[in-house]
Amino acid sequence: MRMVTLPDGTEVSALGQGTWMMAERPASRGEEIAALRAGLDAGMRLIDTAEIYADGASETLVGEALAGRREEAYLVSKVAPSHASRTGTVKACEASLKRLGTDRLDLYLLHWRGPYALEETVEGFERLVEAGKIRAWGVSNFDTEDMEELLALPGGERCATNQILYNPDERGTEFDLLPFLSDRGIPAMAYSPVGQGGALLRHPALERIARRHHATPAQIALAFALEGDEMIAIPKAGTVAHVLENAKAVAIELTQQDCHELDAAFPPPQRKQRLSVI
Ligand code: NAP
Repeated sequence: MRMVTLPDGTEVSALGQGTWMMAERPASRGEEIAALRAGLDAGMRLIDTAEIYADGASETLVGEALAGRREEAYLVSKVAPSHASRTGTVKACEASLKRLGTDRLDLYLLHWRGPYALEETVEGFERLVEAGKIRAWGVSNFDTEDMEELLALPGGERCATNQILYNPDERGTEFDLLPFLSDRGIPAMAYSPVGQGGALLRHPALERIARRHHATPAQIALAFALEGDEMIAIPKAGTVAHVLENAKAVAIELTQQDCHELDAAFPPPQRKQRLSVI
């Protein structure tokens, strides 16, 4: 598995696993748990969840998947903006830990900016670090000016990542946010990297490149996100077959021709674009 280094020196798997929309259907539970475990076996050790996913049931499912294997995972969860006050952040984390059946998170993110001042949330995160309940913290859905504001705060420089929407069809952040993060040694974490399994995976350019690599469009989308060794990608796959397919994407090296064809089909931004979010 390829690794990405976080600002505190921790190495995490470049390819992780998302869990949004898991734990929504009882009939899929067994397969979802098997998928997460197969991902761990394949080295996709970073698992991303959030207190809001399935109203906490995604965290419970992740806890079940990690039973007896907690040490193998790099576990990420997120506080909802409506909870992200100084004390609310601590309380929300404690509730997440309970659902996950663990005593610490490896990384805790602010899901998006909400009503509370960033100072408050950062203080909550720092209290959690001191208490040993989280190892590191970061943010999600932060545009460049949000990152500037955060990094100017006391302790703000300890932000470990910014989780953002990124895939071949969502490249707006390449103009300024990704260079900004790269200059500061903060890896981005790409969410919806296979375009939520939708039209992106039927795009002729991705299909053509995939054929050349004896790969699938999803694998090419993941190889695109992982280009440059500074990004983590967290595809969600609720089946073992999709997980195993995704894991193989780390071995794909895109050629110059592939990159030209991707640029022609999905032009990189020529000017600042507001951050897209889902
Ligand atoms: P995604 O990972 O791009 O797509 C997931 C969909 O793609 C699922 O329907 C999945 O189907 C399908 N899929 C996965 N691998 C595939 C493959 N190899 N071939 C064909 N289809 C495949 O989208 P996402 O779930 O929105 O994003 C990933 C994760 O990022 C989330 O689960 C969540 O953890 C995180 N996220 C964070 C935010 C945020 O605001 N911070 C927002 C969105 C997502 P199956 O399930 O049937 O395998």
